[in-house]
Amino acid sequence: MTPADTLSADTIIVGSGPGGATVAREMARAGQKVLLLERGIDHRASSYYGTYLGALIYADRMSLLFTQEGLNIVRPLMVGGATSMYCGCAAPPPDWLKQRYGVDIDLEVSETIEELEIAPLPPELRGAASTRIAEAANGLGYDWQPQLKFMKPARSKKFDCGAKCMLGCRCHAKWSAAEWVDDAVEAGADLRTRARVDRVLVEGGRAIGVEGYLEGKPFTAHAKNVVLAAGGIGTPRILHRSGLEHAGRGMTMDVTVMVYGFVKERGIGNEPPMTWSWENQELGYMLSTLIDPWLLYPIITALKGPRYPLYWPRWNNILGVMIKLKDAISGGVFPGGRISKPLTEDDKMRQKQAEETCRAILRKAGADPDTIFMTPLRGTHPSGTVRIGEMLNTDLQTEIPGLYVCDASTFPEALARPTVLTIIGLGKRLAKQLAASVD
Ligand SMILES: Cc1cc2nc3c(=O)[nH]c(=O)nc-3n(C[C@H](O)[C@H](O)[C@H](O)COP(=O)(O)OP(=O)(O)OC[C@H]3O[C@@H](n4cnc5c(N)ncnc54)[C@H](O)[C@@H]3O)c2cc1C
Repeated sequence: MTPADTLSADTIIVGSGPGGATVAREMARAGQKVLLLERGIDHRASSYYGTYLGALIYADRMSLLFTQEGLNIVRPLMVGGATSMYCGCAAPPPDWLKQRYGVDIDLEVSETIEELEIAPLPPELRGAASTRIAEAANGLGYDWQPQLKFMKPARSKKFDCGAKCMLGCRCHAKWSAAEWVDDAVEAGADLRTRARVDRVLVEGGRAIGVEGYLEGKPFTAHAKNVVLAAGGIGTPRILHRSGLEHAGRGMTMDVTVMVYGFVKERGIGNEPPMTWSWENQELGYMLSTLIDPWLLYPIITALKGPRYPLYWPRWNNILGVMIKLKDAISGGVFPGGRISKPLTEDDKMRQKQAEETCRAILRKAGADPDTIFMTPLRGTHPSGTVRIGEMLNTDLQTEIPGLYVCDASTFPEALARPTVLTIIGLGKRLAKQLAASVD
């Protein structure tokens, strides 16, 4: 291993979520010298991986990161990034990415769907109560479909995907970006964990490397190209310290809430998350089957009011529908660390309409109408902070030659759907371009 004070590569990649892992794997496989810098560590082999304790250890501020308006952001910091705790859902990029912004990643997305065998779970694994919700929704005229998944039950000795798979997958059915980090390392990439990048080094107007702290000690590293993939919050923070203070002005979040209702029979608590979903393209929101894992339920509902955690003993009898809203660009990630994500009046109005639809679906599925309520706002897709068309060109390059961004911060608008497949598509396309440019 190269000593830390002389690190150099063709390309430095910062962050090992789906954006960073994809670029690293593809470039290393193309024979490029890749340095992958990740501020977290690899928790996959720890006994706490996939437990409630684990989720506290690897999520930023023990999962208690809030915007100034009080919206709770879940931000895992570890090898694999947020895919360590994601629900394993896949969705193709929205049509508008190509139509409005000229970003065509169809080929890269199709390749990924084929390679990872992305498909819905088989009917018997979609969960009886989740399927009841979808049937109720379809009965009301909404066309709910089985959700595409980055999950292969056959890879698991014992498929055990309750809602707790959001804490980290212990049964190995769910793909995470950490697997592509492994592939990158196997192909020769130099992975450094506990490597927090603070700043991009620029010389003669061009990016020449990065600096930060590696295992607590200052370090610098040099390369022909730098790709920031530190996520919707991490990337604008690095750009601020690199002199691009306008990064992070405005953000999207796919703001999320759950609508819960209680039934006498078994609910969806122990069923795989998000097995069915439906998109309302006209109003801009997505609905899906989901509830919070058992121990998180009282914590999250306590934010709503003291009476809600009292229903915790009935966690096994909850039906839940998640709303993901296509929120307007607002607030942002500001120099100094402040994060803001206010909802606009239009966001609130559309969210209200989505809530009414969820209430109708839950009633039709058998939930007691008096028990239906909506949880406080949450954000699991911090994104749109370094947008294509504003701070990035369609090749994901910033105004500084040699400095690229490849993560959720690039989204020009809220996706309001699972993000990972789009990020992988962007990563594959960027890797091809960079590999050609450093030949
Ligand atoms: C609970 C939950 C459920 C979700 N479910 C789904 C789902 O089912 N399907 C889906 O498509 N999406 C889902 N998402 C969203 C998806 O996981 C994220 O949008 C996606 O992982 C973002 O990828 P990224 O590459 O932008 O960044 P991230 O995955 O956030 O990765 C960024 C990486 O950069 C590292 N980093 C940050 N700052 C620095 C720094 N200064 N120096 C070095 N490294 C740094 C971080 O530690 C992290 O590993 C979910 C997210 C959560 C939290």
